[in-house]
Amino acid sequence: MNRLTDRVALITGGASGIGAATSKRLASEGAKVVIGDLNDVLAASVVDEITAAGGTATAVHLDVTDQASWTAAVEHIVGAQGGLDILVNNAGIGDTVSIEESTWEEYKKVTSVTQDSVYLGMKAAGEALKAGGHGSVINISSIFGITGGFGVSMGYAAAKGAVRTITKAVALGWAKQGVRVNSVHPGFIETPILGDTDRDALSTVTPMGRVGKPEEIAAAIAFLASDDASFVTGAELVVDGGYVAN
Ligand code: NAP
Repeated sequence: MNRLTDRVALITGGASGIGAATSKRLASEGAKVVIGDLNDVLAASVVDEITAAGGTATAVHLDVTDQASWTAAVEHIVGAQGGLDILVNNAGIGDTVSIEESTWEEYKKVTSVTQDSVYLGMKAAGEALKAGGHGSVINISSIFGITGGFGVSMGYAAAKGAVRTITKAVALGWAKQGVRVNSVHPGFIETPILGDTDRDALSTVTPMGRVGKPEEIAAAIAFLASDDASFVTGAELVVDGGYVAN
């Protein structure tokens, strides 16, 4: 499939996990991929992989919590690529403790990377996305942006719920401005963010009986990025092996 030929796509957190799989998938569909991440070494290795497979990719150093970093990254991309069509707000970090064990500092760190980044990204990229006439923003939320999960991870729950609703608010604001905005809600996906969490336990609570692969999230993101989703905005696409249906 070549649904994204010559579309310029910025993927935050594109050096690892779901972001890396998404970078590869969008490039395989013809997009000019830009990986925005803090980890320049890992980002460069994903760029090399995409290039070796015949795709087009570059990397830009981006701290998604920093407004100046966003401004510089978007300016760089528009200057180098001539525009920006797709923004995947994917970078995020988690926490695993109860509200009693949590600290205000950790809460603010998690919401800064996982929630504030999505606001900053859409704010920085908005005009460039509108200019192309077929913009698409995909904000990565979570099943824990919809449910209470395991009763822990307060910063993560707050952030992912906010990502879900800011997606709808911006989608409505931009509905007639040529930019669609949607959220994707992964279930448990095999990436470094899971740490040493017991995979058997995660599989047991997932109706399909397994954790997902990053490529399965990337496929949903590619759909929303493409013109196949031309009438889809403000939607939440759950990709979770049935978890929230339960
Ligand atoms: P991951 O492998 O840890 O990838 C996250 C990426 O974001 C890493 O490359 C990380 O870089 C980068 N990052 C962290 N802070 C950043 C910052 N300030 N600026 C720029 N980049 C930053 O985890 P993942 O599972 O692929 O997560 C991707 C998204 O999916 C996250 O939003 C996550 O919440 C969401 N999600 C994941 C799951 C799952 O089960 N895997 C489920 C639901 C939702 P460093 O490695 O250098 O920190």
